[in-house]
Amino acid sequence: MDTQMLIGSKFETGTEMPETVLNPKTEETLLELPEASPDQIDAAVNAAETAFKTWSRTTPMERSYLLLKLADRIEQEAESFATLEALNCGKPRHAVLRDEIPGIVDCFRFFAGAVRTQHGMVAGEYMAGHTSMIRRDPVGVVASIAPWNYPLMMAAWKLAPALAGGNTVVIKPSEQTPLTMLKLAQLIADIFPEGVVNVVVGRGESVGSTLINHPKVAMISLTGDIATGKKVLTAAAKTVKRTHLELGGKAPVIVFDDADIAEVVEGVKIFGYYNAGQDCTAACRIYAGDKVYERLVADLASAASGLKFNQPDDGENDIGPLISARQRARVASFVERANELNHVEIAAGGKVSAGKGFFYEPTVVAGALQSDEIVRREVFGPVVSVTRFSDVEDAVNWANDSDYGLASSVWTKDVSKGLATASRLQYGCTWVNCHFMLVSEMPHGGLKQSGYGKDLSAYALEDYTVVRHVMVKNG
Ligand code: NAD
Repeated sequence: MDTQMLIGSKFETGTEMPETVLNPKTEETLLELPEASPDQIDAAVNAAETAFKTWSRTTPMERSYLLLKLADRIEQEAESFATLEALNCGKPRHAVLRDEIPGIVDCFRFFAGAVRTQHGMVAGEYMAGHTSMIRRDPVGVVASIAPWNYPLMMAAWKLAPALAGGNTVVIKPSEQTPLTMLKLAQLIADIFPEGVVNVVVGRGESVGSTLINHPKVAMISLTGDIATGKKVLTAAAKTVKRTHLELGGKAPVIVFDDADIAEVVEGVKIFGYYNAGQDCTAACRIYAGDKVYERLVADLASAASGLKFNQPDDGENDIGPLISARQRARVASFVERANELNHVEIAAGGKVSAGKGFFYEPTVVAGALQSDEIVRREVFGPVVSVTRFSDVEDAVNWANDSDYGLASSVWTKDVSKGLATASRLQYGCTWVNCHFMLVSEMPHGGLKQSGYGKDLSAYALEDYTVVRHVMVKNG
């Protein structure tokens, strides 16, 4: 297991307080990992600043070739990355191998291609006798802060566009899930010049905070909680850093009476509970039309109860545990409070699973009302609420009545109704008759308090570069 941070060209162990890294499936300690000291963080930022001088001058082709090499190496080591991610997150290994690793590899390949085909406004004489041209240049040193739900995938989403754009990076994985990033650091050191990518480990309040407040950091990229996003904005204000925020979500799922309910149930069974619901796009907040409500609740309850977890043969598992005892207690408390309401029925699950591991039963909270906490707040666990509607206006208004604005979906056999509803939803993404489908070419990112950075797609490359104007006086 790789446990050292990458600072410049050196692999180093942190010198500060160790953090316990657990296997959430067994609750066993995997290792005690000392966190980076302020001096080590400073050294990482300095290494990135030095590397920026040459890396920012490389051609798109040069950067592209290195990103492609990294993609190939990850693909070659897919099995060991999947093993490590499964160990540290408790996820089913086959799901990481099938769903996450190919997306990670494709993310690096996509940005390797995208940076060579950027386009924009044409150069020309917008003032007589003067030629103007637009440049897209890197921002500088990027501090990237990743969460624990998809540790390697979130690292890829941050590293690929930043590096393609010519930036250098200091990345901090979540203190709970540093293992795949530390392994990736080994591959990166073989491929990229010294200092282009630096990896530091540790807690948010210590290492993360020191990093984002560093005066030489030009941009902060965070995937995390809204509260952490606000701290990033405060830190950014001091030296007016650029920010890229991917915060939480509470995805509404509008199910019209004419929807194919079997498809809805199959979709929510997968995308409401995938990764044990620890997903900012999770299909967790259903609004079901009057005519389909009863059937949807009954069928979804039976589908959720059939999801497999904590089986001795990991190949049979659909979902894993929650990341920590704390996260499980948080999820349980949301369901307990919902269950105290007279109008709510726990149609499936609703209990902590007995035995080792931070498992929580896949849960359906039926009869929830728009004002209920379970409908309004992000649970980040395997819990889906179902709310009945009879008026389309209510469904759209309730869906939009949220602090979040990341993902949403609409289910109907009438495509024009689906498109009309999609056009009214204030979400970074709306899927029609599906949910949670990501492709590298399309942007992923939110509105409102879900943040405003775009991951994936050419838009991410825009986020990680600055537009500059160069004007030449002719003659
Ligand atoms: P978190 O905000 O607690 O932690 C995220 C990262 O921020 C961790 O690396 C943590 O160490 C760091 N951090 C915490 N406090 C910090 C501080 N003061 N300064 C600097 N860094 C700090 O979030 P989490 O619990 O790891 O992840 C779950 C959250 O992330 C959920 O709210 C989820 O919705 C969100 N998320 C969003 C997306 C998206 O694309 N929008 C994707 C995945 C997760």
